[in-house]
Amino acid sequence: MDLDAFALFEHHLNPGLASLLRFTGLDRVESHAEGPYVWDKSGKRYLDFLGLYGTLNLGHRHPKVVEAVKRQLDRMPMSVRVLVSEPTARLAAKLAEITPEGLEMAFFGNSGAEAVEAAIKLARAYTGKPGIVTTQGGFHGKTLGALSLTPKPEYQDPARPLLPGVKVVPYGDLEALEAAIDEDTAAVIVEPIQGEGGIRVPPEGYLRGVRELTRKRGVLMIADEVQTGLGRTGKLFGVDWEGVAPDLMTLAKALGGGVMPIGACVGRREVFEVFKQNPLFHSSTFGGNPLAAAAALAAIEVTLEEDLPKRALELGAYLMEGLRALQARFPRLIEEVRGRGLMLGVEFADADIGALVVAELAERGVLTAFGLNNPKVVRLEPPLIIGKEHADEALLAFSQSLEATEKALEGLLT
Ligand SMILES: *Cc1c(COP(=O)(O)O)cnc(C)c1O
Repeated sequence: MDLDAFALFEHHLNPGLASLLRFTGLDRVESHAEGPYVWDKSGKRYLDFLGLYGTLNLGHRHPKVVEAVKRQLDRMPMSVRVLVSEPTARLAAKLAEITPEGLEMAFFGNSGAEAVEAAIKLARAYTGKPGIVTTQGGFHGKTLGALSLTPKPEYQDPARPLLPGVKVVPYGDLEALEAAIDEDTAAVIVEPIQGEGGIRVPPEGYLRGVRELTRKRGVLMIADEVQTGLGRTGKLFGVDWEGVAPDLMTLAKALGGGVMPIGACVGRREVFEVFKQNPLFHSSTFGGNPLAAAAALAAIEVTLEEDLPKRALELGAYLMEGLRALQARFPRLIEEVRGRGLMLGVEFADADIGALVVAELAERGVLTAFGLNNPKVVRLEPPLIIGKEHADEALLAFSQSLEATEKALEGLLT
């Protein structure tokens, strides 16, 4: 008997999440995917406008990434670690070449959270201090160290005690940041645009301000580019919008080309000095394995070759215009449309309206989701390889979903 995988998921993995999925009509089992599309087991096709939270910059199964991974699979998928892996070394060099000035060294893990863990440890080792300043609404992952920098009670409280010495300041507020830095501070961690926080774009000059302030106060700046990195916002990196070079930068989601999981913490040579005396200060059995590194090298090549940041900028502007027109048509439902490139957020009048729209969109075959730290905001992070026709397809579904939601709420809306 073909046991229903959704029932197995509900019984053995996550009953609470299963209920949430059921509520949005997504109690379905995925089957296969290609480019911007995903099919479930019943054969229904979805346009993937969530893109695994910014992972699928190249869409699903980009042929050049798949090909690179297959080639490496047939040669050597895992490194023995006591010899040097060529794809891993080449990837480190490639990242030094494409990231902002001075970020010459790399550490590889398997996820965004692991990239953040590495950044925390490097910042502490380099400065000899324990404290990290993070921002309200910030999301940096859910392993204990990263979770300590992700100030959301629902995630943090059941897992306490967390790392000591973490301070939280409002995002975009340089004065509060300056006040929070003290003699125990090792680093400030900040997303160039908050993703899970609800696609919050900081005020102009904020990233430059963080850079100047951290330099002046002798603490490190960690740019968490796990979601913004590699073209998503219309520039290769989110910090490029303000020409800022942080001391450490974390990457993950899109780095594996949507085919392999990989995370990276890149940084200044000086900050990585601890590895000289203590080569095993930090390590990971699978981090930066040859398969993942081959995928990342291919992903970077495609991103640069096809100038995907520029594409994200152009299509992002087109989508934004369409969404703002919908906001004008449905002012009682949509409060704001914002974002940069193909990292867009639609803020609804309340979270329940957003959830209804997500469900209506799913029914019409468009996948989206709300921000983990801000359920009023539905984010759109489609593959950067989409064309105008996909944007139009999503906008049409959006318009129909808003009509259906408005009808369903008739009499309740003010
Ligand atoms: C997703 C995300 C993380 C965590 O990445 P995981 O791979 O889920 O551990 C960290 N920082 C930011 C900005 C993210 O968006």
